[in-house]
Amino acid sequence: MSRAVVVGSGPNGLAAALTLASEGLEVTVLEAADRLGGGTRSSELTVPGLLHDECSAAHPLALDTPFSRRFDLGAHGLRWLWPEVQYSHPLDGGRGAAAWRSVERTADALPGRDGRRWKAIFGWLEGRFDRLAAEIVQPVLHVPRAPVAMGVFGAFSGLPASLLTRAWATEEGRALFAGVAAHAFRPFGSPMSSAIGVTLGTAAHRYGWPVAQGGSQAISAAMIALATEHGVRFETGVTVRSLEEVADHDVVMLDTSPRAAADIAGDRMPARVARAYRRFRHGPGAFKVEFAVDGGVPWAHAESRLAGTVHVCGDWRETAAAERMTCRGEMPERPYVLVCQQSLADPSRANGDLHPLYAYAHVPSGYTGDATAAIEAQIERFAPGFRDRIVGRHVRSAVAMQEHNVNYVGGDIVTGANDPLQMVFRPRATLDPYATGIDGVYLCSAATPPGAGAHGMCGYNAALSALARIDPSAARRVRDASESSIPEPEYAGGW
Ligand SMILES: Cc1cc2nc3c(=O)[nH]c(=O)nc-3n(C[C@H](O)[C@H](O)[C@H](O)COP(=O)(O)OP(=O)(O)OC[C@H]3O[C@@H](n4cnc5c(N)ncnc54)[C@H](O)[C@@H]3O)c2cc1C
Repeated sequence: MSRAVVVGSGPNGLAAALTLASEGLEVTVLEAADRLGGGTRSSELTVPGLLHDECSAAHPLALDTPFSRRFDLGAHGLRWLWPEVQYSHPLDGGRGAAAWRSVERTADALPGRDGRRWKAIFGWLEGRFDRLAAEIVQPVLHVPRAPVAMGVFGAFSGLPASLLTRAWATEEGRALFAGVAAHAFRPFGSPMSSAIGVTLGTAAHRYGWPVAQGGSQAISAAMIALATEHGVRFETGVTVRSLEEVADHDVVMLDTSPRAAADIAGDRMPARVARAYRRFRHGPGAFKVEFAVDGGVPWAHAESRLAGTVHVCGDWRETAAAERMTCRGEMPERPYVLVCQQSLADPSRANGDLHPLYAYAHVPSGYTGDATAAIEAQIERFAPGFRDRIVGRHVRSAVAMQEHNVNYVGGDIVTGANDPLQMVFRPRATLDPYATGIDGVYLCSAATPPGAGAHGMCGYNAALSALARIDPSAARRVRDASESSIPEPEYAGGW
């Protein structure tokens, strides 16, 4: 029996472990931290009884993938819950815009002609998103099964966000798109800076932006439970520093940053690959504050009180300016702040009327300052009285983010800048982005396609790449099974 070791237990490491073990490999997962789960851990960080997601919060792209269809995480405790409004964007004076699961409902609420335009773009893409999603979760260089839909998707995605935002004429329409486009951590003037906004915006209508019942930790818990059934062994508190330490394995999966992979591989890595990994670019950082809030956030914009995610920055120009500054290495006075209110969909995370609130600001890479006051001021601006309701805080700076998880270099929570080159060739220009140039050693983290998110698809794809070399029939079996044994998850609420 072939033996495999997975270094790192983030969702991608776990997905790789599960995929390999399901095809009969003997798999061990080694994790540096004292808890498994990487970016899917949840903890009581402020006051007892309030459960906070330490990293991933909303999961539009985890719901229906080849990985989720091959492995029934629902049967192992994972249950998705939807907020009523998927995401919103408050503006001054109690105005704002909101994205509902329904494109029609979203469009109807936008002023002027913006509703029609929203529907023309997102309605068209949503209708084809099942086919699109199957393409998006693969490496970009492949023969598409849905070339027309991919062509249209690619045309929108390739635009700078500053241009696509102008498809809408009103502050509401523009802000709604700008807020979701900012998830890319890119200057709005940059080519392809619309790609993540177009993807997440369409996914909001097709799948919603659900949270996991009981915290994002439920995602990794389900993967761990299933992997354990397949015989996977786990060890925590083990930092792997060299391939020598795992030399007795046929397959090594590295759920690490490319630079860390080059360090671990040392001289065994071909010089050209090591060079590419060391040149891999990381994006700006995130400065995160968890709040315990008495009675929830008193947003002036009514729909924001129902929204799972709230994009807080002001109008689209302010959003674009904040992103431009953080990408340039400057801290804006009014940063882009992403707020999640998971307890709206999952009341089990709250304690009576005391709610956990998740907020992070985009900050320059490695930012050493304190963004707590700026985050509070941004929320207070759109929710007067917020400060008075805070009863607890937990702060994790961009620097502390990297201490929490070494993959988040300088606080880069998406494991690599989403610049045009890295959007296409991630982590380097090659046909197999998971191969490291060393026989049996693969990179499986979010630095590989399809990139960040707690969907496990980087690990699943990397495991398929390994299986294709060891036993091509096993790789075929996994692919065939993923064509769909498990029905679509049951959608609850969110309309
Ligand atoms: C603040 C924040 C908010 C986010 N929000 C969302 C969201 O809402 N939705 C979403 O889908 N995604 C979100 N993400 C992104 C998502 O969490 C990550 O993309 C995802 O966790 C990446 O998975 P991974 O397996 O590649 O790596 P990670 O989850 O980062 O895990 C890597 C693991 O490897 C371990 N490791 C690294 N090096 C070694 C070593 N040498 N030896 C042993 N162990 C090692 C680390 O300790 C870590 O546990 C967010 C991330 C953060 C931080």
